[in-house]
Amino acid sequence: DNTVTSGTNGNVQVVVRVRPPSNREKDQGYIKCVGVDSVSHSVTLNYRPQPRTFTFDYVADEVVSQEEIFAAVGKPITDACLQGYHCCLIAYGQTGAGKTFTMEGPDPESNSGNSPGFAAQSKANAKRHEKRGLIPRILEYIFQKMSSEKSQSFKDVEFVVKCSYLQIYNEQVSDLLDPASLNLTIHEDAKSGMYVEGLQEVVVSTAEATYGVFRRGSENRHVGMTAMNMESSRSHSVFTVVVESQRRNEGGVMNRRTSRFYLVDLAGSERQKHSESAGIRLKEAGSINKSLSALGNVIKALVDISEGKIRHVPYRDSKLTFLLKDALGGNSKCTLIANVSPAEKNIDETLSTLKFAQRAKLI
Ligand code: ADP
Ligand code: MG
Repeated sequence: DNTVTSGTNGNVQVVVRVRPPSNREKDQGYIKCVGVDSVSHSVTLNYRPQPRTFTFDYVADEVVSQEEIFAAVGKPITDACLQGYHCCLIAYGQTGAGKTFTMEGPDPESNSGNSPGFAAQSKANAKRHEKRGLIPRILEYIFQKMSSEKSQSFKDVEFVVKCSYLQIYNEQVSDLLDPASLNLTIHEDAKSGMYVEGLQEVVVSTAEATYGVFRRGSENRHVGMTAMNMESSRSHSVFTVVVESQRRNEGGVMNRRTSRFYLVDLAGSERQKHSESAGIRLKEAGSINKSLSALGNVIKALVDISEGKIRHVPYRDSKLTFLLKDALGGNSKCTLIANVSPAEKNIDETLSTLKFAQRAKLI
């Protein structure tokens, strides 16, 4: 049987998104090799000699809009965050498969430097607005929900929102809001959980301001990587939104909650070609594989535990999994979006992405 069925690991949701073919692919003898069945939530890869079918929690083909992805994937996990769960939303896949498009929107450079953010004035802006990705939509939703709860005047509730933005490159953590920072250390506090020593946290009070912080960090990332001749597709970026709430319950007692929401755009999952993998590039490839394979191992261990097997979860095997510890295990929610290309020429990378995604869901 070549069909893989998914189990339910309640904490981890796995989603596959197939992007449309690019104009370049269409000009170069594009052959589609991926089919999506949205009723059975399955993806079939026209692999030879045997096609391969995988089932997930949700699958999106090339016509699924950013808004639909937000409704299906972004909204539920943001609701969980607002209920007090630590959450992570992770985009996985080979370079060019659509991770950044899904998380953020179209490249800001592709249209006169406009951000895919908020004000939709001109026609071009309206189009960009419609194409904005999960991060701006999630931020809008968080602030909307908070203000609607606050406006219910019988409720005694206060919120504080903070954000930070870091990058993991060669297993080193740096602060994208403070380009001078290098090799920060991740710590675990018995009471409050995981934190990064010295990482800037910015208090924010609107979705626009929060997205502005995100854009500033992305710009620093771009500038820093270019200056050092580094490839941003080889780093993991983590934008963290912390929501602190205080609610007075019927008995008059203050109930405080803090939840962290990690929004992660991973390094490209592609295997490095040997010709490119010398010296520093080889070291990068090793580090990327370390974090990505550690992520796979942690998710697999959590699936085993959810099935009642007793297992050690190897969070400490990489910076990424250690940082995300609170949002991967225990009382938390994690959504993995596996992004794939529809083109036959990428079929091997697509198969490996689907296999990675499937490990998180396997019975
Ligand atoms: P990655 O971040 O995985 O390297 P990108 O998000 O940069 O990939 O996507 C590669 C290209 O494909 C970009 O030009 C992006 O705008 C485009 N793209 C990706 N996904 C979609 C989609 N669902 N719809 C339209 N264009 C997309
Ligand atoms: Mg990208």
